Amino acid sequence: VKPGKFAYLRANCAEEVLGAMHQFGDDLAVLAGGQSLVPLLNMRMAQPSVIVDVNGLPDLGFISVDGSLSVGALVRQKRLENDPVVAATAPLVAEAVRHVGHPAIRSRGTLGGNLAHADPASELPSAMVALGAEMVALGADGERTIPAGEFFVTHYTTALHQELLVGIRIPVAEESTRSAFIEVARRRGDFALVGVAVVLRLDGSNKCRDARIVLSGVSSAPHRATEAEALLEGEAMSETLAAEIQNAVERSVEPGSDLHASARYRTRVSGVIARRAVARCTRGQAA
Ligand SMILES: Cc1cc2nc3c(=O)[nH]c(=O)nc-3n(C[C@H](O)[C@H](O)[C@H](O)COP(=O)(O)OP(=O)(O)OC[C@H]3O[C@@H](n4cnc5c(N)ncnc54)[C@H](O)[C@@H]3O)c2cc1C
Repeated sequence: VKPGKFAYLRANCAEEVLGAMHQFGDDLAVLAGGQSLVPLLNMRMAQPSVIVDVNGLPDLGFISVDGSLSVGALVRQKRLENDPVVAATAPLVAEAVRHVGHPAIRSRGTLGGNLAHADPASELPSAMVALGAEMVALGADGERTIPAGEFFVTHYTTALHQELLVGIRIPVAEESTRSAFIEVARRRGDFALVGVAVVLRLDGSNKCRDARIVLSGVSSAPHRATEAEALLEGEAMSETLAAEIQNAVERSVEPGSDLHASARYRTRVSGVIARRAVARCTRGQAA
């Protein structure tokens, strides 16, 4: 469990990172919190010949609100968990991040590193898709914005191409916005067997608008249960609707089996936790 040989570069500005990306291409890995990259290096599942440490970049630790909530890629997960601005404007993020590993991991792990790593069982990618967030990527041609729904391509693969993820823009929750994150893991701190992020808006008569139901751990990337979302549109919660949502979610997923859980179990859990998360969002209504 020792990494192969690599050259270590500590970047002081984004231009240095982009220069190195241009020079070394796929043979380079960016080091943020190291909580995913370092284990991969130690197991030699990643063997880049160059590592660029971005922790010295001065401008990627911001949290600000200007129409949307903007979070720098280097913001540590621990800070997201405790930041009052995040709690007020994107409570789903504060809730989901608490399920990421253990406190020591969240103290080093960054938001950008978590999203760029794109683990299909990870919590924050699903939360970002549910929230309709946008990723801000910096490349040789400048910045571009990638909707979260297009950012996560497949297992450990994002839409980034020789680009640095510099920030994430998240729509600010309105008064009518409700959200919930629920996961089932074998132990606290483990990756989820299945997780679900739900965001919906309620109108004045408690009917649902713009429902998003996004699952982790059931596909190669965050999975939107669009049929279940459509069932909610314009409806108030009821026992019948809750059961229909559960069924629609279960029909929409095709998870795999592994040592930790069978596909059948994951399918069932998907429906049950989606139903519970929607019920939490519409609390006070039958579910
Ligand atoms: C025991 C353990 C349990 C864990 N449990 C969970 C869990 O339950 N849920 C979960 O989601 N995660 C979990 N993790 C992973 C953890 O959340 C990591 O912090 C996170 O996945 C990676 O963030 P990082 O900042 O450490 O990134 P790093 O490990 O430094 O990098 C991860 C990847 O992203 C790339 N990268 C990093 N930053 C950028 C950037 N700004 N632009 C472009 N590419 C970039 C790197 O090159 C690398 O490929 C766990 C880790 C451990 C060790």
